Amino acid sequence: MNTLGTPQQPLWIAIIGSGPSAFYAAEALLKQKDVAMRIDMFDRLPTPYGLVRGGVAPDHQKIKNVTAVYERVAAAEAFRFFGNTHVGRSISTDDLRRHYHQIVYAVGNETDRRLGVPGEDLAGSHSATAFVGWYNGHPDYQGSSFDLSVERAAVIGIGNVAIDVTRILAQDPERLASTDIAAYALEALRKSRVREIYLLGRRGPAQAAYSPAEIREIGELESADLVVLPNEAELDESSKPDTADPEAKKNVDYVQEISRRGEGSKPRKVRLRFCASPVELIGENGRVQALRIEKNRLVRDDSGKVSARGAGEFEMLPIGLVFRSVGYRGVPIPGVPFDEKDGRISNAEGRVLNPATKSPLQGEYAVGWAKRGPTGLIGTNRADSVATVKAMVEDAKTGRVRSQAAAADPAAIPQLLKSKNVRYVTFQDWKRLDALELARGKTLGKIRDKFTRVDEMLAALNGSANQP
Ligand code: NAP
Repeated sequence: MNTLGTPQQPLWIAIIGSGPSAFYAAEALLKQKDVAMRIDMFDRLPTPYGLVRGGVAPDHQKIKNVTAVYERVAAAEAFRFFGNTHVGRSISTDDLRRHYHQIVYAVGNETDRRLGVPGEDLAGSHSATAFVGWYNGHPDYQGSSFDLSVERAAVIGIGNVAIDVTRILAQDPERLASTDIAAYALEALRKSRVREIYLLGRRGPAQAAYSPAEIREIGELESADLVVLPNEAELDESSKPDTADPEAKKNVDYVQEISRRGEGSKPRKVRLRFCASPVELIGENGRVQALRIEKNRLVRDDSGKVSARGAGEFEMLPIGLVFRSVGYRGVPIPGVPFDEKDGRISNAEGRVLNPATKSPLQGEYAVGWAKRGPTGLIGTNRADSVATVKAMVEDAKTGRVRSQAAAADPAAIPQLLKSKNVRYVTFQDWKRLDALELARGKTLGKIRDKFTRVDEMLAALNGSANQP
């Protein structure tokens, strides 16, 4: 190796995003004892942790304990955090390319996939992304509103996000009162009149995307009955081979057990329907009033994949609220190659690809959902980031970095941001916000009371006096 990566000339690395994949990349990088490096992590929000803060449901607090690992990473001397720094607005990718030998895009998937059916944009039809961001106090969604005065809602898709949304709607809000749910969301849920939630899967119980533990949580709610129609719980011939997968088998057994329970007598109902695709949202005066669904039959193709095909039988569900939970997609960063079809950064095993030549763009990488799409649990990102870091180290050792990068001066990025009037937030600043949120929570009998607006966060940090 050249002199790059020695203490005299450390490798300068920028990581864009501060969710799990970003921190696992930083962790794996810092374990490389034979390469000296400096890591700067950027996030458009003043707060770190991505979906751990803005996505994980408030009643799943234990999952958030992973941040203890991220805090240890952030404590490394070679690590800096630049929150409230939007790559694309506060600082350009060209700025980063001038300053860093390697850049890692850990930007996740910021938007939702579209359904592509008429009526999708009627008032009362929302993306699950917006609802999740709202109850979690994400600054982008704190101003959203959802009409919870209706009695019936539909959640489209049966992945774990759909299950989170359903659970938040169906459970007794008092169970959320001591969590870190946004205060305005708790108030709105307390007034909610939603009593019936249709949870709609386009394929059958053997192809459900939710995890067995997640659907069981719905089945065990005190405030709601999970209801499955016996004929929809039965497996058709094409689905039977899918139960070779132990998770799918557990899911099938569970919904079959549930289907034998009938309606139950709890105040709310979650009606889990299978082989039902939304075909149109019907509105009145611009607001959704009903959802037309088509029954599907399942077909196994030569590759072994079971797909849903419309059977020409329709049903109308009278609902006043719809949450579309059919997956996420990435948002392109100006100047970074993006695969429109797959909704993620063009890459081969984490190396960003030049779209014209299909060869790696020297010194640029992707991790997490930005790399592989919106799949997997938080822990999935660890191995995924380790694999990208392996490629980064290989490339650094063979000199395949952004060699023109004029890093070296630790003051360069803070100066650049100051010259652009960016009030960046350091990790020490975040720790102060964290302590304030915990203290506010304590007085309210909650785990944490989140700041939900960026201006509020910056005001709490007392202006620029605390900036190093
Ligand atoms: P997901 O697991 O991919 O589920 C998407 C769901 O939408 C599937 O049921 C899919 O059905 C359905 N769908 C897609 N297009 C559709 C269409 N046009 N019409 C009707 N249904 C459609 O995605 P996700 O729920 O957004 O979750 C993303 C990732 O985060 C997953 O890996 C998930 O496990 C993870 N996550 C985990 C947790 C947790 O552990 N508690 C919580 C939240 C998220 P098909 O299967 O037929 O395509």
